Amino acid sequence: MLSKPEFDLGIHARFVMTFIQGEFQVRENVFMGILGTRIALMETGDGRSHATKKRIDAPNSVLLPGLINAHTHLPMSLFRGLADDASLKEWLFDTIFPLEAEFANEEFCTAGTELSLLEMIAGGTTTVGEMYFHTGAVAEAIDRAGVRAVIGPEIKVIPQDQQPIAGYVDSFERIRSLRSLYRDHPRIEVGYGPHAPYTVSDETLLRIAAEANAEQVPILIHVSESRAEVEESLKLYGKTPIERLYDLGVLRRRTVLAHCVHLTENDRALLKKTGASVVYNPDSNMKLGSGAADIVSLLRAGIAVGLGTDGAASNNDLSLFREMDSAAKLQKLAGGDPLAMGAKDAFRLATLGGACALGLEDRVGSLEVGKEADFCLLSLDYPHLQPVYDLVSTVVYAATGLEVTHTAVAGRLIYEDKQHISLDKMSIFEKSAKITQSVKRARAAAHPAR
Ligand SMILES: [Zn+2]
Repeated sequence: MLSKPEFDLGIHARFVMTFIQGEFQVRENVFMGILGTRIALMETGDGRSHATKKRIDAPNSVLLPGLINAHTHLPMSLFRGLADDASLKEWLFDTIFPLEAEFANEEFCTAGTELSLLEMIAGGTTTVGEMYFHTGAVAEAIDRAGVRAVIGPEIKVIPQDQQPIAGYVDSFERIRSLRSLYRDHPRIEVGYGPHAPYTVSDETLLRIAAEANAEQVPILIHVSESRAEVEESLKLYGKTPIERLYDLGVLRRRTVLAHCVHLTENDRALLKKTGASVVYNPDSNMKLGSGAADIVSLLRAGIAVGLGTDGAASNNDLSLFREMDSAAKLQKLAGGDPLAMGAKDAFRLATLGGACALGLEDRVGSLEVGKEADFCLLSLDYPHLQPVYDLVSTVVYAATGLEVTHTAVAGRLIYEDKQHISLDKMSIFEKSAKITQSVKRARAAAHPAR
């Protein structure tokens, strides 16, 4: 009589690279057994003595925790490469905001989200910190794809002399009904996403803080991304953006602050005091010339820091492998110190650091017994990944993400042998092409000389 399988899924890999109780660890010749959505066993050996419903043998691959992209805007992949090489202010106010007002309807947001998820899943990303609008459509696409997400539906009202932009606001009522729809969802959590201190009034921020605290949900926001933003805040309010958010009660654990490029000593003290977390977006910050966030000081102060790609329109890819490489190198460059951030630190930002920043560290961010089985397998069968002297160096400084062969979330494979299981790549390409054709036509009509 056949015995009942011990595990739903078993993975035998050449290496595992993870954190065990917070400590970085590489182990060779490892078997991981998954039962339901969780990791039930990690042991040395091929695991052949265990009965499994399904088994993957990856003799020259690294088993990694699923990567966590803690700050992105999924639908924006449809604007990839459309408006490059500008300052943040020009890029955002002169190009992106008007384009979004014209094109970013529900259909656009669905197609853009799916296109981004194709890329992310194929690159080993299993969790996203997402901020955009038409969040109902975005959340549905995330659910279909099978990934994990913390979503902040964007709230954005241009204050002062700027014209309000139509079609932007996911109203409080819509956000509330979306939240109740996903209240008990195992992978998707809906919080609030006030766009930035400079696009949201004090009154709205106060309301968001009160509602988010009452409902104990995350707040995702862009903060202190450019020097101009900080200067304007000092002029208008006599406070840095972080001081203003502190005074309005927005800073607390699970308030996730993207960028934080220009902080003062006092700003960092307020982050530490409140337990707010930060997401580092090196590629986007370099591309928009925003500056280099002092991540070393934030980590030294014990502030939770994750890693994000930001949207594809300001990166322009969604690979967290490439982002890890940039993360370490930008800290070295900015500090004039090659030891400022190493490969292990960058790997932590993209995994456990991101989980801590989003408040998910009890469930994901490392491969440990009891945690959710969110993982990817990275094949080492590529010339640029040979030889392997130091695995974390190979993964952070040489891999691109295209070497990922398998990705799973909560024990479910959504990418297997480089094929998408949960998404239909060709139909998503078709939808995206149709939408981008209309964007191109409209741009050509508006700017016939270009
Ligand atoms: Zn952003």
